[in-house]
Amino acid sequence: MDQVNKEELMKLVEKARPYSTNGKLIDYIPALRTENIDDLAISIYFLDGSFYYAGDYLKPFTLQSISKVIALAYVLIEHGEEQVFSKVGMEPTGDPFNSIAKLETNKPNKPLNPMINAGALAVTNLIIGKNLEDKWNRFASFVGKLTKSPISYNQTVSNSEFETAFLNRSLCYFLKQYGYVQGDIEDLLALYTRQCATEMNCKDLARVGAVFSNDGCDPNTGECYIPKNIARICKTFMVTCGMYNASGEFAIKVGIPAKSGVSGGIMGSVPGKCGIGIYGPSLNEIGNSIAGIKLLEMLCEKYDWSIF
Ligand code: GLN
Repeated sequence: MDQVNKEELMKLVEKARPYSTNGKLIDYIPALRTENIDDLAISIYFLDGSFYYAGDYLKPFTLQSISKVIALAYVLIEHGEEQVFSKVGMEPTGDPFNSIAKLETNKPNKPLNPMINAGALAVTNLIIGKNLEDKWNRFASFVGKLTKSPISYNQTVSNSEFETAFLNRSLCYFLKQYGYVQGDIEDLLALYTRQCATEMNCKDLARVGAVFSNDGCDPNTGECYIPKNIARICKTFMVTCGMYNASGEFAIKVGIPAKSGVSGGIMGSVPGKCGIGIYGPSLNEIGNSIAGIKLLEMLCEKYDWSIF
């Protein structure tokens, strides 16, 4: 399909890999400081079931902010649009993903969108369950349907973030003050840091991207896990806010729905065509995988995948 082949993909990866030297590993989550800065891997999962990869595509990494798209789909299924969007908005922000500024200045103090930390914390707060374990298990079993493999989280990474997430705690207390978050903040942080530490490899991530590309349905079995309208909402957020405050430039240079995380992962979703999973932990100053973006730029130009 689209003439992608393994050799070409390997060439693109080797062309993109040197860009890693211009970036840095994430430093504010201590457990992620030890990643290998030159790593770069990709998987592409086409809707006809064909699958391509280059680099160490089976190496597990934590999703970080990529989990925000999956959590959004999950709570939209559980609660519906009206309730979810009473807690979080739909507008992009020009600010960094962990900024608190607009929570104060943008009345009525509602987080602007579910792809920045403030909005994602409000979304995670909507995950239903008796306790932390129950909430995590429900979320993980939903993710496991999309990957078709059992899902766990990296405890070292989640603990490391939990112990140092003072900024996210501040966002939570701000949100609680204005009624966008309920309950105990430490419990919320524990769930959120687990969600962000959800672990998978590029192959799994490409499969999740493929489910979104396929309007929420499994590309192999046709079984639908996400209603089409919710898959559409998620892909739209990926376009407008998925690459943080670089989403506009990414839309011009790459032009596909995508979501990045500070671990260096990127999930791409080319509607009606394929899902893409990338891992490259060297980040640019915005917090996006520097070689991963270069790779996507070359790939989407070569195969003309921009949706615009
Ligand atoms: N867990 C990270 C945080 O909340 C996720 C951020 C990201 O990937 N941009 O800071």
